[in-house]
Amino acid sequence: MMPDYTQPLYRPPSEARSLIFQITHGCSHNDCTFCGMYLHKPFRLKPLHQVLEEIRRIPADIVPRVRRIFLADGDAVIYPQERLLAILDALNAKFPTVQRISAYVGRKAMATKTPAEWGQLRQRKLSLLYFGLESANDQVTDLMNKGRDADFTRQQAITLQEQGIALSVMVILGGGGQRLSREHALDTARWATAVNPRYLSLLTLFLRRKQDFFDSLEPPTLGSLLDEAQLLIENIDGKNIIFRANHISNLVTLSGTLPRDRDRLLQEIARHREQLGRQGRLDEVPEFYEEF
Ligand code: SF4
Repeated sequence: MMPDYTQPLYRPPSEARSLIFQITHGCSHNDCTFCGMYLHKPFRLKPLHQVLEEIRRIPADIVPRVRRIFLADGDAVIYPQERLLAILDALNAKFPTVQRISAYVGRKAMATKTPAEWGQLRQRKLSLLYFGLESANDQVTDLMNKGRDADFTRQQAITLQEQGIALSVMVILGGGGQRLSREHALDTARWATAVNPRYLSLLTLFLRRKQDFFDSLEPPTLGSLLDEAQLLIENIDGKNIIFRANHISNLVTLSGTLPRDRDRLLQEIARHREQLGRQGRLDEVPEFYEEF
């Protein structure tokens, strides 16, 4: 029998082929002003005995095919360390062919573990964490009520990588509206340069049931979103960062490795700006859509 899932269940697109165990429900923070993903799903830990039973009962014919496992929901690694180690031990024992275990990590979970504890998780194949940085500008993240500042996330991200855990970092274009666009792009580029995450992806601000946040911003236009993406890409000086802007919310699909593909990515943005300019659409405010 497959694991039990409680909806809504979110996972990164790159985990489409992973076996998912939902070890927590909801998000431990659940208070970002722009996010309604788990609005009606209060946070709780799934009891350890239940998780272990779900692992135990995976049918034998599926076991040899499992290469990747994703732990849901929003901030699954906040699970208390001893019990999380027990889950990872059970996964490794049950699925000897597993190559990668991954999860979302939030600022709260980052604050709960020591470097040595992250190292214990890495030894048990937890090797990739998806992190919603959203921005490294503190004014923007204060507006979003993310809860911790950029110094904290930078240090935690560096620590995770020192322990051998790769990071896939998400940034929200337009997250500071037009007023904070420049600071948002430049501070986030500095953060990415300092941390050098393996993956960096851009999403564009979109409506997740929380209209008040959107009403409080000077809304980004198609032109200002392109300017922001350009400024960000121009100022990231990392090494081999796999960069993606291919979420459905993005105006223009971008994909490459920074800094190697910087010029091509900037040319693609310039082409798109030219096209929108010809259509007289640069000042257009995109329609932020309701995801659900
Ligand atoms: S953005 Fe992430 S951390 Fe914030 S409430 Fe939503 S799921 Fe939780």
